Amino acid sequence: MATFSPSPDAATVSRPKNRYYDPSKSHHRPDGFQNNHGDFKPKSLAEVLRWRMNASRHSLPPPPREPIPRTKADLGFLHANAKAGLGMQPTVTWIGHATVLAQLGGLNVLTDPIFSERASPVQFAGPKRHHPPGIALSELPRIDLVVASHNHYDHLDEASIRHLNGQDGGPPLFVVPLGLADWLRSKGVSHAVELDWWDSHTIDAPAGTVEVMQLPSRHWSSRSLSDRMQTLWGGFAVMAPDCHLFYAGDTGYSRDFTDIRERLKHRQADHGFDIALLPIGAYEPRWFMADQHVNVNEAVKIHQDLGAKRSLGVHWGTFELTDEALDEPPRQLTTERSAAGLAEEDFFVLAIGETRRLPLRPSAVPC
Ligand code: ZN
Ligand code: ZN
Repeated sequence: MATFSPSPDAATVSRPKNRYYDPSKSHHRPDGFQNNHGDFKPKSLAEVLRWRMNASRHSLPPPPREPIPRTKADLGFLHANAKAGLGMQPTVTWIGHATVLAQLGGLNVLTDPIFSERASPVQFAGPKRHHPPGIALSELPRIDLVVASHNHYDHLDEASIRHLNGQDGGPPLFVVPLGLADWLRSKGVSHAVELDWWDSHTIDAPAGTVEVMQLPSRHWSSRSLSDRMQTLWGGFAVMAPDCHLFYAGDTGYSRDFTDIRERLKHRQADHGFDIALLPIGAYEPRWFMADQHVNVNEAVKIHQDLGAKRSLGVHWGTFELTDEALDEPPRQLTTERSAAGLAEEDFFVLAIGETRRLPLRPSAVPC
């Protein structure tokens, strides 16, 4: 069941449903958006049923063999670092799923904040989190910037967005892909910027100018049965003088990541991203997931395609969304890392609540 017709009828062309439609951009369609490398076709009901029935027949996913590692967040350090301005040390802290607190450029940044009990339109059904967030919303430092990659419920959580928008000290800036600002406005958020792929927004931060760039990924969007691929999806670069961070959002494997490395060469010279946040979970069964979620082997390829200095595996261990066990991705990562000749610190996972302090980007190292 395809959402898009390859040859849109005259009515669609004359009055595009996609008000951002720019025929010069290959990922734009009159009625929505598409991927750069291979059109995504939303799965049919028959395919969804085949997946779910097979999972039920084989009792998938299997239960985790071990508890997901968890540690008490070092709130004293994170809050002091949050206020350090120019003296901030770049850090990443895994809060759970794809939610990361990143400190860089003197800013406190959250990726795809979800703190709710369920990744679902309702809180009585849908995937339930297996453990509380590594930092509670009330324990966060004041957040300056939120980047939201797309509108799936495990990435764009209304209760978390509303809470952050009402935080003490004023709302953060929300940076989202094209089409999501209306949704944010309907939730009371007005401090928002929406971007197309390759477009940037700059922020005057304590450590200098920070550039936030929206980047392509191979995925899709929907929040209901009637809005498939009508808002854009994508990853982000957050480039501060002391640290360049990449966040992939959700993605299947594609040439997008070599494209990103090529297009950012002028900004990064031969020093790529200091840290890449890459999804390593929600990948089985491959016949259903491969065009929307990478497996761990492909996540390692993205790490290499980007030329990232180091990567953190996210999007695992929190919500059971697919057929692999909740604790399987890090085991796969150990295997794939050694097959690729990478060290543990090149592509690592953190315990929920754990912080990794990052070295300053070389040009930012004080003489
Ligand atoms: Zn998604
Ligand atoms: Zn997801």
